[in-house]
Amino acid sequence: MQILKGADVSAKIKAQVQQALSGSGREAQPPKLAIVRVGEKPDDLSYERGAMKKMEAFGLRAQSYAYPADISDDDFKAAFRAVNEDPDVAGILVLLPLPKQIRQADIAAMIDPAKDLDGISPVNMAKVFAGDESGFAPCTAEAVIEVLKANEIPIAGKRVTIVGRSLVVGKPLAMLMLKENATVTVCHTKTADLKAACSQAEILVAAAGRARMLDGSYVGDGAIVIDVGINADADGKLCGDVDLESVQEKAAMATPVPGGVGTVTTAVLAKHLMRAAGRMPIAKSVEE
Ligand code: NDP
Repeated sequence: MQILKGADVSAKIKAQVQQALSGSGREAQPPKLAIVRVGEKPDDLSYERGAMKKMEAFGLRAQSYAYPADISDDDFKAAFRAVNEDPDVAGILVLLPLPKQIRQADIAAMIDPAKDLDGISPVNMAKVFAGDESGFAPCTAEAVIEVLKANEIPIAGKRVTIVGRSLVVGKPLAMLMLKENATVTVCHTKTADLKAACSQAEILVAAAGRARMLDGSYVGDGAIVIDVGINADADGKLCGDVDLESVQEKAAMATPVPGGVGTVTTAVLAKHLMRAAGRMPIAKSVEE
């Protein structure tokens, strides 16, 4: 089984970003990403650190806008409006979920769709649904497509099974896969025979958030397995939704966790920032 390393895909995207940066006027400042965080959740802090590091490595600017966990809905909206309208901010990433007192749907509706790098606004969701590439798809969903394309894995005509139907991963990914002409099955907790749906897949994407739930018995011979899951196992160790060791004999290729899709997600975020700033064309994937 071949391991598909996220770092290789990220390096290709980095080269594209840096080429676009140097080609679009050296005097211009690199575009700036605003990371909006409420509270100090360890997952948020770790994602923020990773994103800041990635932006810096790619030669882009990033700033954290952090607010206390108990900030009121009104106060947060006022602060968010200022970030949203700041002309120096080219793109925004809001770390979700927001605390309960803040109406997340209002923030999704408020965010400028042209700065909405992770595709949370209804405008961008509709564009993903319509197959309109002028919007922003959620970075993780797009990262899955980037991993496949960077490794020259054909998608058109393939049977793709996605385990998970969340708004950030499963659903948008199903749309992106359809746009690539795959035949898509989407599974969830009410799926009657998950094993059958998974083992018939030529490309299996795990996005359930359940530590190592998919073992070799879920994987068809020669399948490509893409693991989106980021979980802690019983020992607190970081792991994916796929039991990588158990699928070794069945899968042709698989992404590891850590070191797989997560690494590509922040690279896609960088690419989206460049697009938001008008410094990279729409929907340029690493294969081009
Ligand atoms: P959610 O909890 O929002 O969604 C999980 C989905 O998986 C749901 O649709 C759920 O079904 C389904 N599911 C859960 N358990 C099972 C099961 N036993 N059998 C079948 N389906 C199941 O999670 P997210 O989509 O936000 O994230 C999924 C995973 O991806 C997490 O591990 C998360 O940490 C990771 N992630 C990784 C990112 C990256 O950059 N690599 C970015 C974002 C997320 P139902 O709808 O019926 O409840």
